[in-house]
Order: sequence, then C-alpha cells, then structure tokens
Amino acid sequence: MKISVIKSDITTIKVDAIVNAANTSLLGGSGVDGAIHKKGGVEILNACKEIRNKQGSCKVGEAVITTAGKLDAKYVIHTVGPVWNKGGFEKEALLRNCYQNSVILANQNDVKSIAFPNISTGIYKFPKKIAAQIAIGTIKRYKNNNTIEEVIFVCFDEENFSIYEKILKNDTTI
Ligand code: ADP
Repeated sequence: MKISVIKSDITTIKVDAIVNAANTSLLGGSGVDGAIHKKGGVEILNACKEIRNKQGSCKVGEAVITTAGKLDAKYVIHTVGPVWNKGGFEKEALLRNCYQNSVILANQNDVKSIAFPNISTGIYKFPKKIAAQIAIGTIKRYKNNNTIEEVIFVCFDEENFSIYEKILKNDTTI
C-alpha cells in the first residue's frame, strides 16, 4: 500500500473513494463536508437521507458510504470525527475508529484508492499533530491487511501538510 500526502482540495481528487468529515446528521455542514456536497450535488444528499431513514444518524467514529455524485471519485465515505473539547480519553479512540471504519467500508466496496481529509482538525478543533499521528498510525496498522493500494492524505492547509510530511518522513506515529 502506497501512502502519500498532498496539499489540495479533496473534491478535485480522482480516486475510488474520498472520505468526508461529516457530522452525525449526515445532511451536510461547513468545511470539507459543505465543499463535497456543493460540488458532488444533490445525489449525495439524497443517498445520505436514505441511509438516515434506515439507520438514523451516524454515530461519532462510524462511517457510511454513498455515491460521489458529480465528483470524479466513485464513492464518498462519510465518517463523523470527535469534537476535541467534548468527552474524555475516548476522543483519540474515536478518531482512530473513523479511519478504521472508513478502511473497512473501502475494503467491502473494492476500493483500491482512497483520499482522506484531516478529520476533526477544522471546526472540531482536534490538535493537528495528535490527529495526524492517529491518522497515519491507524492506516499503517492496516498496511498488510487489506486490498487498498493507495492512500492519499489530502491537506487543505499548510500546517497540516507540513505535519504530515514530517511524520511520514520520520515515521513518528503513535
Ligand atoms: P471537522 O468538523 O471534522 O473539524 P472541517 O471540515 O471543519 O471538519 O475540517 C476538517 C479538515 O478539512 C480541516 O483540516 C480543513 O482545513 C479541511 N478542509 C476544508 N475544506 C477542505 C477541502 N475542500 N478539501 C480538503 N480538506 C478540506
């Protein structure tokens, strides 16, 4: 499995699946969620509504998969990151679950290439360094245990990009 980092807008990436940092409502929001729904179109929202009708909201740490609508990707995997200032120790485990459950869904849907945003590091205020170590560490743990060939971490801001570059270069995952 190839792991890389780029600085870009995730809605422009051509991979089998892009991951969305959604919220529990699955009905769209701001940040990367808003960008994905805006560019991907109403098909994504309709698919999310269907999922809501079946299972209700999406819990923190869990993930669901939909069409990617008008985007270049085939699928959007929506996962709900934890809010940093809510709850105790479980925040880190919940962020780990986001990456883990996204990988599981990707495998179930024969996804060979997947792009992740920096989940929870925007409005949800997770410290960027800790979030990056969790993201990379969780993906590395799956390295030999799935059918995904390529994982791209898509950073929107320079700070996240340089944190990811450093961790990937020096392998300082936790
Ligand atoms: P959360 O609520 O999980 O914190 P946000 O969307 O606020 O979600 O932020 C998550 C990360 O996504 C942040 O690092 C933010 O800079 C980044 N982001 C925002 N828009 C995009 C985009 N179009 N492509 C990739 N990353 C984005």
